[in-house]
Amino acid sequence: MKPLFRNSFLLLLLLIGTTSLSAQQTATINRLLKVEPRQYFADRDSAYLDPYYGLKKLIYGNRRFAENKSIKPRQTDADLKNNELGQKPFATIIGCADSRVPNEIIFDQGVGDLFITRTAGQVMAEASYGTIEYATAVLNTRLIVVLGHESCGAVQAAMKLPENPPGHVVTLINAIKPASLYAKKVGGDDKETLDLAVRRNVIEQVNELRGLEPVLSRQFDRGEVLIVGAVYNLHTGAVEFIEETITSLPKFQEGLTADSEK
Ligand SMILES: [Zn+2]
Repeated sequence: MKPLFRNSFLLLLLLIGTTSLSAQQTATINRLLKVEPRQYFADRDSAYLDPYYGLKKLIYGNRRFAENKSIKPRQTDADLKNNELGQKPFATIIGCADSRVPNEIIFDQGVGDLFITRTAGQVMAEASYGTIEYATAVLNTRLIVVLGHESCGAVQAAMKLPENPPGHVVTLINAIKPASLYAKKVGGDDKETLDLAVRRNVIEQVNELRGLEPVLSRQFDRGEVLIVGAVYNLHTGAVEFIEETITSLPKFQEGLTADSEK
């Protein structure tokens, strides 16, 4: 192929690759997790057994939601009856309390699928830690996703660095402060710094959980539990997983790729 044609061809491929996915994952994430273009479904039982596959299930579910193809799975009368026997959620979500980020809806999952803790700015404290540990140690849920979102009011409040926040709000502000200081230091316009603070806050919360003694840190180091971060886009409905929280997973650190579809 002549260089000019080859370049146009590559550009075309690039355009197709970037516009066909509503769920915005980077090429690296798609390659590592083997996320298939135009794929919308992943098996429920496999997602519970293999957290790498569970990640794909969330990505495909969010793709359905963002492309207006939600199927509202596992919420019939028969499904409710099945759930009386017990629960086996395939993912734990640590999300923001914001009413615009309903976790089951944006990931298009059903009853019994997601174990969720939501607080403003997804700030965690002792009770959240216990809740997450319960999910991993008792329910054997092997995937934990810290989910921040665009235009988060809690992060916005922390960006103002108020001197005397009212009541218990001070807990939230203090927890998000390092991320807001980081974003201010990097600089940019208001939207850019807020987006950066939202992202940074999620990354710090991911690291907080990865190092949490005595349960999660050990489970994470042994590769038994995956802890990753993502940000939800209010405009497009797409969840973007944060690349550095995926590439830093033990399996990918060893240079292996997720081979979860066997
Ligand atoms: Zn929020």
